[in-house]
Amino acid sequence: MPQLGFGVWQVPDDEAASAVSTALEAGYRSIDTAAVYENEQGTGRGLAASGVPRDELFVTTKLWNADQGHDSTLRAFDASLDRLGLDYVDLYLIHWPVPEADRYVDTWKAFEKIHSEGRAKAIGVSNFNPSHLRRLLEETGTVPAVNQIELHPRLQQAVPRAFHADHGIATEAWSPLGQGKELLDEPKLRAVAEKYGKTPAQAVLRWHLQTGNVVIPKSVTPSRIRENIDVFDFELDAGDMDEIAGLDTGTRLGPDPDTMNWMG
Ligand code: NAD
Repeated sequence: MPQLGFGVWQVPDDEAASAVSTALEAGYRSIDTAAVYENEQGTGRGLAASGVPRDELFVTTKLWNADQGHDSTLRAFDASLDRLGLDYVDLYLIHWPVPEADRYVDTWKAFEKIHSEGRAKAIGVSNFNPSHLRRLLEETGTVPAVNQIELHPRLQQAVPRAFHADHGIATEAWSPLGQGKELLDEPKLRAVAEKYGKTPAQAVLRWHLQTGNVVIPKSVTPSRIRENIDVFDFELDAGDMDEIAGLDTGTRLGPDPDTMNWMG
């Protein structure tokens, strides 16, 4: 899986094709969408129009909460493939555990079937806490390849990251830029970025890469799409890695997975 990909949350369907095209032209090969983003069709159009061979692309989509359950998962997966215009995805994720519904184990069994058929080359989860992961490991035979969680310098997720490392699960960071808001104006971060002649967004992405996280920054602005992948020509030194590590406040931007039971 490419360590740096392109996320399309909140990109309207009719803008997704052009955002995806811009990203592919800039060199991204991994695209992260979800059924609930309602832009799988536009994403698929962008992928098809690019002319990039399918085996060079890494496409992720996610099962929405309301579709959890064994048979409904199989139906929802078919619908996602259809909208994307693909015959397989590279990674399929359970979007949220939805503890109140208590269907994620059954859902995971459907994911195992989809995986065994080769229609998802890898299967994983998103927003699973270690307790949810532990249950999957105990009740099924398959370790998720990936857990995609909220992760940025303000929420560094040391405990889940250690759990993932112990079990061979890749940590993928959503909102890796902290959604751009106050984080990118943080003076300490700006000072680190300036040292390398890079932007705060690039410094944050570099911190993720050196930490071992998979990242999927989002932008619809072509110059930023290019900026966010231009992070492979410098390396933060240990002191600057520590400086960014010091920005952790444990503050979430999104919902808490233990209480996120919204079906939408
Ligand atoms: P992000 O941290 O990638 O921030 C995106 C925002 O930051 C942009 O909208 C823009 O305002 C700003 N930005 C981007 N590049 C910039 C730059 N170079 N300079 C200055 N500002 C810049 O946030 P995100 O979109 O929430 O997360 C990224 C991806 O993660 C999403 O698109 C989606 O694919 C995924 N995601 C998954 C979940 C989940 O529950 N699994 C939840 C949220 C997001």
